[in-house]
Amino acid sequence: MVRVARDKKAALISVGVTAFLAAIKFLAGTLSGSIALVADAVHSLTDVISSIGVVVGLKISDREPTKTFPYGFYRAENIVSLFLAFAIIYAGYEIVLTSVEKFTVVSALVNVPYAIMAALLSLLFTLLLSRYKLKVGRAENSPSLIADGEHTRADTYASTAVLAGILGNYAGFYFLDPASGIIVSLFVFKAGYGILKDSIKVLLDASIDYESLNRIREITSETHGVGRIQSLAARSSGKFIFIELEIGTKLKDLEQAHQLSDRIEMRIKSEIKNVDRVLIHIEPEDRGILRYAVPCTENNGLMSKVSGHFGEAEYFCIFDMQRDDNDFIDMRFLKNPFATLEKRKGLKAAELLVANDIDKLITKESILQKSPFYVLDDAYVASEETDLDTIGAVIEAIIVGMRGNGLEPARERG
Ligand SMILES: [Zn+2]
Repeated sequence: MVRVARDKKAALISVGVTAFLAAIKFLAGTLSGSIALVADAVHSLTDVISSIGVVVGLKISDREPTKTFPYGFYRAENIVSLFLAFAIIYAGYEIVLTSVEKFTVVSALVNVPYAIMAALLSLLFTLLLSRYKLKVGRAENSPSLIADGEHTRADTYASTAVLAGILGNYAGFYFLDPASGIIVSLFVFKAGYGILKDSIKVLLDASIDYESLNRIREITSETHGVGRIQSLAARSSGKFIFIELEIGTKLKDLEQAHQLSDRIEMRIKSEIKNVDRVLIHIEPEDRGILRYAVPCTENNGLMSKVSGHFGEAEYFCIFDMQRDDNDFIDMRFLKNPFATLEKRKGLKAAELLVANDIDKLITKESILQKSPFYVLDDAYVASEETDLDTIGAVIEAIIVGMRGNGLEPARERG
């Protein structure tokens, strides 16, 4: 809450000070006949309008979605910005025209002290304002305030050019005032172009930044139960992000699949800012096999002895069974690098098995309600107990069990 308040306060102070500068520059510019000062007044006004425009746009876009506008009014902000951008670019064009006219007529400024005062004030306040916004922006970690502070810092160059133009004109180099008018018009054009580019990008459903998109992909694939990510699309609307995800999963249970999508959505929303909606489409993914893991004491093929322990087992025998015809297809032995650990060996071993993408763990020792159980359960790995002594016997039992009744073997948990 404090963060919002400080951000807002800085933005409000900035708008107030900039509006004040715009007024005195316009006044002194008209009194003295300095096109550079008038141009800089327009420039400051531009900065004020774009700040206020964003606030107004946000107000409209905060409205609740209606039946006619089910996606809300987030884009209002961008439409407001689009109009502003055109107005700003037009103002820049007017400044250039007037400056070019002034080149052709030799004209000394009048009421020069006012002009110098206004230019000095503008330079001083712009400098102070940029330092203030950068300081608060960095302290509050607000990217928009930092960007705004950097903009204001660049504006000090415009203020310097204006001052130089007035002093130069006073010294007899009359062309320097319209010359700095043209320099200031570049700032106006730049501001207009920036706003135009951003609003068009969003209005055309541009995707979000590459970094966030990548992070969303990472979060999704790191979530247990997610298979292949078939597609990922995200678009921004106003300052909000809409995400569409298509993922595959081998989960068969509807409730589990639902939980999976909730989990992904929660993680994305907690890590990526301003996510309005995450739409997740789940497709069943059948890799055609069931992968089992059995802890064992040796690496001796089908003759290997099943270990009485889980975390302390020397090896894990991992084998795949074909889902449709229950054929045994592949077997390998994974050395358990955590067997001799003092603590958490069961947990680490469970994580290793999850990383190896197993579907089911068969043990002699019950791991129910122990930490490895929760790691496996979290990754949707089922666990099951056996009293058989060799890998060969376990595999035989699975084949018989499946062929016998068409159901999974008895005593299954998880
Ligand atoms: Zn500016």
